[in-house]
Amino acid sequence: MQKNVIPHTFTITQEERSKLKNHACFLLWFTGLSGSGKSTIANAVEKALFNKKIHTYTLDGDNVRKGLNNNLSFTPEDRTENIRRIAEVANLMIDAGLVVLAAFVSPYQKDRENIKQIVGTDNYVEIFINTPIEECEKRDVKGLYAKARSGEIKNFTGINAPYEAPVNPDIEIDTTQVSVEEAVSIILNKIKNKLNPIN
Ligand code: ADP
Repeated sequence: MQKNVIPHTFTITQEERSKLKNHACFLLWFTGLSGSGKSTIANAVEKALFNKKIHTYTLDGDNVRKGLNNNLSFTPEDRTENIRRIAEVANLMIDAGLVVLAAFVSPYQKDRENIKQIVGTDNYVEIFINTPIEECEKRDVKGLYAKARSGEIKNFTGINAPYEAPVNPDIEIDTTQVSVEEAVSIILNKIKNKLNPIN
């Protein structure tokens, strides 16, 4: 905490907001290569949660890099700052009473460790979308692999920048083996108890 920044004690707490919404609040963090299926699965999970009257919000590259983080590039330093800011935003959203879904490549182990520190270990569910790079490149959803191969994009994860695979993710999904519907059911099953409101 910075000197002379003294927190005010607000009357309504996170627990009370959570009780009002009738579910617990935490972060589902999707990590994996570009095109692995993070956004597709996060979107389907959010839809399923919404249908269960869970209050959610999804953070992804489109809504974060275009606004809050539009001054950041893809250098290692800027990637670290990108993830730190996203984790801080997610932390505020958890405090606000939401189940937050975040879909980011987030290639560095130390950055993912930092997310856990920011939101708290109990609030962090790590979902590794472990689709083989050959499949991601074949899909090339945004045409970025072709650009990276031709040298047009530098620092592209999996081609000319590293991806440090999670060591012990809470959930691991290979989308060449598991359909979107199956992925949703694996994730919902895993967080079923965690969604219970704090008593
Ligand atoms: P990311 O967010 O990881 O960059 P996207 O979700 O944008 O990836 O793209 C993944 C692509 O793979 C989509 O076009 C999606 O339709 C396709 N896909 C095929 N099978 C699956 C699956 N089982 N799970 C998720 N995505 C899949």
